[in-house]
Amino acid sequence: MSVAVRFAPSPTGLLHVGNVRLALVNWLFARKAGGNFLLRLDDTDEERSKPEYAEGIERDLTWLGLTWDRFARESDRYGRYDEVAAALKASGRLYPCYETPEELNLKRASLVSQGRPPIYDRAALRLGDADRARLEAEGRKPHWRFKLEHTPVEWTDLVRGPVHFEGSALSDPVLIREDGRPLYTLTSVVDDADLAITHVIRGEDHVANTAVQIQIFEAVGGAVPVFAHLPLLTDATGQGLSKRLGSLSVASLREEEGIEPMALASLLAKLGTSDAIEPRLTLDELVAEFDIAKVSRATPKFDPEELLRLNARILHLLPFERVAGELAALGLDDADAAFWEAVRPNLSRVAEARDWWAVTHAPVAPAADDPAFLAEAAALLPEEPWDLSTWGTWTGAVKAKTGRKGKDLFLPLRRALTGRDHGPELKNLLPLIGRTRAQKRLAGETA
Ligand code: GLU
Repeated sequence: MSVAVRFAPSPTGLLHVGNVRLALVNWLFARKAGGNFLLRLDDTDEERSKPEYAEGIERDLTWLGLTWDRFARESDRYGRYDEVAAALKASGRLYPCYETPEELNLKRASLVSQGRPPIYDRAALRLGDADRARLEAEGRKPHWRFKLEHTPVEWTDLVRGPVHFEGSALSDPVLIREDGRPLYTLTSVVDDADLAITHVIRGEDHVANTAVQIQIFEAVGGAVPVFAHLPLLTDATGQGLSKRLGSLSVASLREEEGIEPMALASLLAKLGTSDAIEPRLTLDELVAEFDIAKVSRATPKFDPEELLRLNARILHLLPFERVAGELAALGLDDADAAFWEAVRPNLSRVAEARDWWAVTHAPVAPAADDPAFLAEAAALLPEEPWDLSTWGTWTGAVKAKTGRKGKDLFLPLRRALTGRDHGPELKNLLPLIGRTRAQKRLAGETA
């Protein structure tokens, strides 16, 4: 049986780092096993699901390189859910309930005040035909609950190890709303069964759902998949990410923070595992290193600073071809490999290349505060063509002529040539600046 996994976001908002980590782990699991990866949009919440969020999910996954082999949308499958619901009603596993949300709240509050767990009391199961007829005559419409077996539910979780629940400690879940709409707890199982999902890898917020859903798989005659529940990411202080969804959305990391896809993938593939976080330039490398057994049960912390540091390390390694598109999008159409290799050691984000482009290709007001020395240096500038050896030849000659060395030699040259005290190696920048500009800047002219 070939491995099949799915990533099943609800298109009700932007994907954030926590969501996309689960997509990545599913994808890596599938690729490692030679299996397939399904993207499923859980869009039955029609009030909150939006096409632009669905598009955003596809854009984010594509940007990260997480291609999907299969695609499904729950809103295409209502007919199938109705069919399964009808069968569950016929077998008595789905039963109609008439309590209003207020009545259910009161029941829960009363149980909690007695120190008891707020488990649904199954009052609706005790209704007779006449009671139901009377309630419906009052204008009430039923929602439908799944009747759990009061037996133990057990599975071996790939992250948590053996997990045990008592059916009697769980509330019968509502699977069909009052308006007839099926809910996630049911639709997810029907899809996983129909689409032959072998491994469900998701957040640990779903552990209790799994206990219930295993019984639903059994009731609908579906093969029960293997489960893995990953601890959810928190921010650096240990708080859940939900409060900062905007700033930690994949879209904002890409568009506002200038994060490279492989920086995010390198971090998220390893966060919360026993592997060290190292820059990786391809997803294939992450596939080779992936093993779900390395995922720890401890809560992983997401630190945006760590992501930015990793982004810098990735940029320092990325070849020009991998950033040419991004440079062109910044307006640096003429940037070439020599420019990229000169400036990348100084970048944390690709957009910062613009500053160095301005230094090599636009007028700079030099800091020419040592004019006599700079004039001597200018007179020694070699003829073009210039290459990576020009700087060494030239400064060797300047040193011999002036007797200066170290900072006294190099800093005035850097300040005159770039207008700054720090930056990429001048050996790389000098040929990009060129002789005409260099000469003018050494003479204190803006050039
Ligand atoms: N749509 C669900 C969610 O986003 C999917 C959970 C699951 O993987 O089953 O939480």
